Amino acid sequence: AYNFNAGPAALPLEVLQQAQEQFVEYEGAGMSIMEMSHRSGLFEQVNNEAQALMRELLSIPDNYRVLFLQGGASQQFAMIPMNLIQEGRPAAYVHTGNWAGKAIKEAKLIGETVIAASTESDDFKRMPSLSEIDVPEQASYLHLTSNETIGGTQFAAFPDTGNVPLVADMSSDILSRPIDVSKFGLIYAGAQKNLGPSGVTVVIIRDDLVERSPKSIPAIFRYETHAKNNSLYNTPPSFSVYMVGLVLKWIKSKGGVAQIDQYNRDKTKLIYDAIDQSGGFYRGVAQPDSRSAMNITFRIHSEELEKLFVKESEQQGFSGLKGHRDVGGLRASTYNAVPLESCKALVEFMADFQKRHG
Ligand code: PLP
Repeated sequence: AYNFNAGPAALPLEVLQQAQEQFVEYEGAGMSIMEMSHRSGLFEQVNNEAQALMRELLSIPDNYRVLFLQGGASQQFAMIPMNLIQEGRPAAYVHTGNWAGKAIKEAKLIGETVIAASTESDDFKRMPSLSEIDVPEQASYLHLTSNETIGGTQFAAFPDTGNVPLVADMSSDILSRPIDVSKFGLIYAGAQKNLGPSGVTVVIIRDDLVERSPKSIPAIFRYETHAKNNSLYNTPPSFSVYMVGLVLKWIKSKGGVAQIDQYNRDKTKLIYDAIDQSGGFYRGVAQPDSRSAMNITFRIHSEELEKLFVKESEQQGFSGLKGHRDVGGLRASTYNAVPLESCKALVEFMADFQKRHG
């Protein structure tokens, strides 16, 4: 299928084929990776190798830890304030849509929060400019969502937050473009879009923030617990970690994150151009300077036609083009593993649909 699902999303075919070959027996061990002790040398190697590849691909400095956790990005919405809010210092949040909103809601349950910027008055159709973001000097941290998966908006650059740690939800754009990790205190991402299957969440955290974890919260929710135990405090999602390792190797084989970024830009340009050149038949949802290279949100003037678009697209082998149920419309998610050929096929389908229904 031409898979444009928002998540879980397309995985590289080569990765799936390799996993299939190793599914029943991993590396001559006489068993599947799923059947193996997470304390075994073989699994430890898988765990360490995935971490090392993450470090290499994102040039992660030595004073950061890479953790593989469970509970999805949603659990991070809670763990971040639990671990990082300090007495008398509010947590600052940039409100940019559905996912930022969920992170804010959880943080409010834990401690004092302030909104450093919001684009709600623009229906979240854009990201704030960097000068709009007001970082309180005393903040425990500043949280932002680098790519809003539902709205289809993405930060093109990140604010300088000085001594205030910058925390970013990169669930839907991690490893899609180069980033300067040293600008961030903590980066987190559920794996199921750009990194692998669901079940594992990657957290990249600076050492001084690991040390902030208060002793008063349960061990399983403390970053310090997981950092001290190399992400093996309890039974990890071993198959998902193994798959993330394969996806990271695939990214490396494609020339790394800079090459993937260029490829992604070529893919999305095709689709945004098709929208912009449709004479108004298709309308992009996000403002042009905030457009996401991962989730392309667009509309047709009638909901009936949008429904028909989804139905016909499915008949022609496309999957996942229906917009999120909270906002409606149409959405094409073009994560790393979506091939250029799928985007070309979508553009052809869009032109043909317009010809027949425009
Ligand atoms: N943050 C963003 C930007 C997302 O796109 C998603 C899921 O789609 C989440 C958080 C929630 O992730 P999870 O389902 O892993 O909890």
